[in-house]
Amino acid sequence: MAYQLQKSKIGEVIFRQKLVNQHLGQRIYFKGEPDQKQIIKILKQRVASSQNIFKNLNSQNISLSPFLEIGAEKCQRAALLTSKFNAQGFALDISFESLKSAPNFAKKLNLKKLPILICADAENLPFADNSIPFVFAFETIHHFPKPHRVLAEMKRVSQKTIYFSEEPVKQFFNLGLWKRDYNLTLAEKILKKIYLLPFISRLGGSESSHNVTENEFSIGEWQDALRGYKNLQISLEPVFWGPNAQFDAKDNNWPINLLTKILIAIEGGGITVLAQIKKETRAIQKNNLLDLLICLVCKKSSLEKNSKRMHCLSCQSSYPIYNKVIIMLPPKLKGKLYPNF
Ligand SMILES: [Zn+2]
Repeated sequence: MAYQLQKSKIGEVIFRQKLVNQHLGQRIYFKGEPDQKQIIKILKQRVASSQNIFKNLNSQNISLSPFLEIGAEKCQRAALLTSKFNAQGFALDISFESLKSAPNFAKKLNLKKLPILICADAENLPFADNSIPFVFAFETIHHFPKPHRVLAEMKRVSQKTIYFSEEPVKQFFNLGLWKRDYNLTLAEKILKKIYLLPFISRLGGSESSHNVTENEFSIGEWQDALRGYKNLQISLEPVFWGPNAQFDAKDNNWPINLLTKILIAIEGGGITVLAQIKKETRAIQKNNLLDLLICLVCKKSSLEKNSKRMHCLSCQSSYPIYNKVIIMLPPKLKGKLYPNF
């Protein structure tokens, strides 16, 4: 199973630190990335679309609490769940700086309650097996070399439902001459006008300058990563134009219509997956949400919290808390990503 390289994890931390400071209006690091005004607009749109998604899941009797969001960044979706859906749960990201900014952005988005903030690695989740009913991610899994490892971790900790959305599906019809940013240059704007841009350049300019992995997986790779799931609802959609493919899938039988398949190969696409899993083992029922966390060294749920850290009573490992963010990283990785903590 392909793991994310350590240099990519370090890249994520440094890139997100700069990006969030730009989004907070402190300094422009990346001209191609949104500034403070643009990001607030984008976050408002994300909140609105997530609200529809959560309402829809609710109407299918899917329990949204407790939840775990992987790659939560500024936590607007997790804060939407805690503030407007009466849910409780965790927002997890590898970027401490992004999580630290959550109260600031929640205020701007008028979201009053925040989830528990966990700085951790999606490939090594600090949660007990089978412990969280609703595990979800948006725009996150494509930052890894393959979807398998993160999905395996999401499946391990999930008790009932896994949901992910807004992940790219590979566009084969692209020369990939360079990587473009959110804000286009003049030349790129002209190329966009004549419909050439999306076929000669790919997204993720600023990200790749910091070793952040920016991937697209083919339908086959998604299928492979989701092998063995018994109950999947899948939606595949071409990026610009064309019909969606929506279907229920069992095992590896994905009935995708040919037109959608061809259009995705040409334009690129997006994938949304709702996986309902039936766990054989009994679910853990805990009253205190923090009891769902496990020590990353001894893997036991023997953590005790004080105002400064989570402390493992079993192996004496310690996980510091800064700005209400619990840093749940294994000691070696923490030393590489956050040497000052
Ligand atoms: Zn321990």
